[in-house]
Amino acid sequence: MDEATSGRLATLILNKICPVCVDRNVDGTCDKLAEGTCTLMKKLPAAAEAILQVKSDRMEPYIQAIRDNVCVTCERRYPDASCDWRDIDRCLLNSYLPLVVEAIEEFFEWEKRPVGPPVRA
Ligand code: SF4
Ligand code: SF4
Repeated sequence: MDEATSGRLATLILNKICPVCVDRNVDGTCDKLAEGTCTLMKKLPAAAEAILQVKSDRMEPYIQAIRDNVCVTCERRYPDASCDWRDIDRCLLNSYLPLVVEAIEEFFEWEKRPVGPPVRA
């Protein structure tokens, strides 16, 4: 995924997920973003690529795709594949996965829409 697309994805998350995130400060700032500890932002390009491999009405295939493609290289994951951050809702990627899937699928549908000639009135 190129840098420009990663940047647009980060903006998408800032606009769609951050406003409903319980970890955000009341003034709209975010300590986790500043510290680099928001796993959603940190893993975003890899998570988007994993999500785009799936097309399903169910969440389980998306969860599995994240486990197989993102968690597998995550520094928080234990050798037995468990993750304490996931267990205590500290991994924002995991906590907001349904919203993230919806936002990312919409984003890429929109990006690949055909651009036709300007419509004349
Ligand atoms: S923790 Fe992550 S998802 Fe939540 S407001 Fe901060 S950057 Fe956004
Ligand atoms: S669930 Fe755990 S292993 Fe997977 S991305 Fe989040 S913190 Fe990393």
